[in-house]
Amino acid sequence: MKLPEWTRFEEEGIIQVKITMAFPLRWVNSYIVPGDDGITVVDAGPHSPVAVENWEHVLKELNWSAKDITRIMITHHHPDHYGLAGWLQERSGAPVLMSTRSLQEARFMWGEEGGTEERFVRFFQAHGLPRELSEPMREHLLGAYRDVLPQPAVTCVNEGDSFEMGGRAWELIMTGGHAPGHLSLYQCDREIILCGDAVLPQISPNVSLLPGSDAHPLAAYMDGLQKLGQYEVRQAFPGHRHPFGHFRDRTVHLLEHHEERLNRFAQLLDEKPRSAYELCLAMFGDKLTVHQLRFALSETLAHLDELMARGQVEEQAGTLTTAYAAISNR
Ligand SMILES: [Zn+2]
Ligand SMILES: [Zn+2]
Repeated sequence: MKLPEWTRFEEEGIIQVKITMAFPLRWVNSYIVPGDDGITVVDAGPHSPVAVENWEHVLKELNWSAKDITRIMITHHHPDHYGLAGWLQERSGAPVLMSTRSLQEARFMWGEEGGTEERFVRFFQAHGLPRELSEPMREHLLGAYRDVLPQPAVTCVNEGDSFEMGGRAWELIMTGGHAPGHLSLYQCDREIILCGDAVLPQISPNVSLLPGSDAHPLAAYMDGLQKLGQYEVRQAFPGHRHPFGHFRDRTVHLLEHHEERLNRFAQLLDEKPRSAYELCLAMFGDKLTVHQLRFALSETLAHLDELMARGQVEEQAGTLTTAYAAISNR
């Protein structure tokens, strides 16, 4: 088993803990912020046997036990961040903090009534997902439930609420697009930010259009980048990959990336009308695993939604599968 590594950032008072994940992400970052009243954990990791081993190992190595954890802050509801929160809460008794919107999304995705995967598969089918991929897609979506049990009792915190950890005040910044109600944590004296998956180095955080979730995720994501880009940041601590120092530049780069991608999608539709699935294959290739296809297809749909909002693309009526066409400027 690959053991987790951790890095102590003395000046910032933060310990980065790498929790093992499958390729291509390889790991998710949890952060430990020690304070006089115990330690705060920011993001928990997915609930997998290896992640549990990672936590047991790292707490032992750092001479802590789960009982030293006094708060668990979750940036957003995705299983790789939220999944182990309930397990950590059972062992520590600590409150799990999330935004109200994040909690709502967690309940929508992993609520007791279930059925979200069925809704998603039907949505993808209406956008061209072939029948033979429907069952693997359903299986893939169902798999995520295992990564989030047991679910925690959540205490809601939101932008504007005062929040302290490690003896300092942190500002909570809410953004959408990657995940509704995503919270980043900003410490102004040290100019550091724990930005979850709102901004990542090297990776473009996934932006998905999903039925029942945010109606315009790409617009929300780009608004969030503009908002986060206003902050003076010396060092950013992201949800994946390594801490990095060019935070504002990265927000600008991600905005440019999405503008380029919008243009490319528009060009492809200018060639001929296509379904979201056909457009997805034209953009991302036809060698995708089911896991990759789920993210690529919902990312394509998020871009189509934005192109329609900008008046560049329209839906074509009259087919079982929704097709999209470029609106001519002539
Ligand atoms: Zn995420
Ligand atoms: Zn993540």
